Amino acid sequence: MKKKNLFFKGLLKNIFFVIFIFCSLGLLLSVTGFDYFNQEKIEEATVPQLAERINAGEVSKVEVSQNNVLVYLNDDSKLKIKKEEGITLTENLSYFNIDEGKLQEVSFVYKEDASEWLMPFLLMVVLPFVLIAVFFFFFLKKGKGGMTQSFDFAKSKAKMFTKNNDTKVTFNDVAGLKEEKEELSEIVDFLKHPQKYLKMGAKIPKGVLLVGPAGCGKTLLARAIAGESNVPFFYVSGSSFIELFVGIGSSRVRSLFEAAKKQQPCLIFIDELDSIGKVRGPSMSGGNEEREQTLNQLLTEMDGFEKNDKIIIIGATNRVDVLDPALLRPGRFDRKVVVNLPDIQEREDILKIHSKNKPLADDVNLREVAERTPGFSGADLENVVNEAAILTAKLGEEKVLQKNVLESIEKVLLGPEKKSRIITDEDKKIAAYHEAGHALVASFVPNGEPVRKISIIGRGMAAGYTLQVPDKERGFKRKSDFMADISILLGGYLTEKLIFGEVSSGASDDLKRASRVARKIVKELGMSSLGPTVFGEKETEIFLGYEGADQKNYSEDTALKIDAEVKNIMIEAEEKAKQILIKYKEVLERITKELIEKETLEREAFEKLLKA
Ligand code: ATP
Repeated sequence: MKKKNLFFKGLLKNIFFVIFIFCSLGLLLSVTGFDYFNQEKIEEATVPQLAERINAGEVSKVEVSQNNVLVYLNDDSKLKIKKEEGITLTENLSYFNIDEGKLQEVSFVYKEDASEWLMPFLLMVVLPFVLIAVFFFFFLKKGKGGMTQSFDFAKSKAKMFTKNNDTKVTFNDVAGLKEEKEELSEIVDFLKHPQKYLKMGAKIPKGVLLVGPAGCGKTLLARAIAGESNVPFFYVSGSSFIELFVGIGSSRVRSLFEAAKKQQPCLIFIDELDSIGKVRGPSMSGGNEEREQTLNQLLTEMDGFEKNDKIIIIGATNRVDVLDPALLRPGRFDRKVVVNLPDIQEREDILKIHSKNKPLADDVNLREVAERTPGFSGADLENVVNEAAILTAKLGEEKVLQKNVLESIEKVLLGPEKKSRIITDEDKKIAAYHEAGHALVASFVPNGEPVRKISIIGRGMAAGYTLQVPDKERGFKRKSDFMADISILLGGYLTEKLIFGEVSSGASDDLKRASRVARKIVKELGMSSLGPTVFGEKETEIFLGYEGADQKNYSEDTALKIDAEVKNIMIEAEEKAKQILIKYKEVLERITKELIEKETLEREAFEKLLKA
């Protein structure tokens, strides 16, 4: 439909253009005296011949236009004559014995020659305008992508999915999230039967905020609400409102709501709401003016809903802490639904949904895949299944095998394997000891999670990796769990120190992560001797691209105590790891030797080495 409209628009434009050219040509020709439709053959004559005809009483009328003379004879024929330049026709006739009486009978008409002033006028005034108009016409037509876009600034960039869209999503397409779907089914009912609620005097909720990490299905849920209630769905990302110019964002918000009002009942989904909905206030960085204006406009539009308006706005964010309180008050985004990372059952269901259209081999066990993917979001899981299908196609196999799915998990987690990366024997030895150190500490430290795989084949940025998978899903972590994490992270570093007497640069990322955990224990979790206080506030302002910089809200004295506490935690975890490495040095050597030889060890092979 849209394409058809565009086609007709283009056609109309072209027709106008052609008509314009013809009119201009017509005008030009008519004023220059060119009579295209009336080109009868007129006999030419001379002034003496005209004098003769006048004397003979054959002439009824004479039209003079500059030096051109048109003679109308009594027998309805005409003559064309060129008179001498610089004198009038009567003067010219007087040279040829003209009969004064007969001359009186002829009516003389003198016409002004338009071409004399019109031609220069057309050439110098009208033509440049015509040329400029033609130039702009083509320029705009050609530059549709660039030029016209800049004229479209104020239009909202929302994508609209109509109710008849082929890609309609329903709650059945959303795996897991049972409670969330239940909560949102109320909204579906509002949209489906608004009158039922309006009759009761109930206000239709205006906004629902979906909060959760990226890729957990917030957009999918919003689309499912639209699909279930069979209403149009406007999708727009918060960041697409913001442009370089102040005022654009607010006009985009206005245009979005105008469009939505025409389609109601309908649903507007604003992704990344935090990019426009951050707390307003004094800003350190420039460019906040635009964001604040946009947010103000959004608030105004939400307030401006008529009682009977049937538009529901769904916002999505993973930073609810930074949202402006005005957005969260009743009458705006007053309902909050938390969409969390999926648990094991939900992961299995998501995998089932996304492998529906893929030829899975009989050996595929999606439960095992779900067990191996704690912390994966719905989007990650979709990616795993997709990567497995790509790998299968690349290998030329008929069906997706379990090994391909398992391989894809690591690819999604760490990036593709770098088998071709050439490493020296010395580097290989360091990597093998390093990974064996991690795995050994993980196996013997209290609360360590079981090792599922060790590899010294590089993936992404890592030269090697040790994967651990918890036996059961845990909601909370205790201090002992964090301490185990630090000991395991330090396992590689300590092994290098123990075996080679010095440490390589490969341990730097482990150290960074271990220090971060230790600092979190003290500053955020209240798990140190400094007690149940949170030190440092996260800043919500983005300054020079750095978000969440720590705001120091404690004294220098406390800062020293925090540093000392972090140091104690690191020393305690280091000590624990060191004891394990010394005690089981023999096992460490066994694992390293096997790792150098085989490059990758799966859980069973590794556990055999532990017991040997
Ligand atoms: P972001 O915050 O990055 O916008 P999001 O939470 O909106 O992320 P979605 O875009 O909804 O995430 O999800 C990404 C993809 O993950 C979807 O296309 C969908 O296929 C898949 N997915 C996520 N959660 C689920 C689920 N519960 N069931 C089925 N598929 C899911």
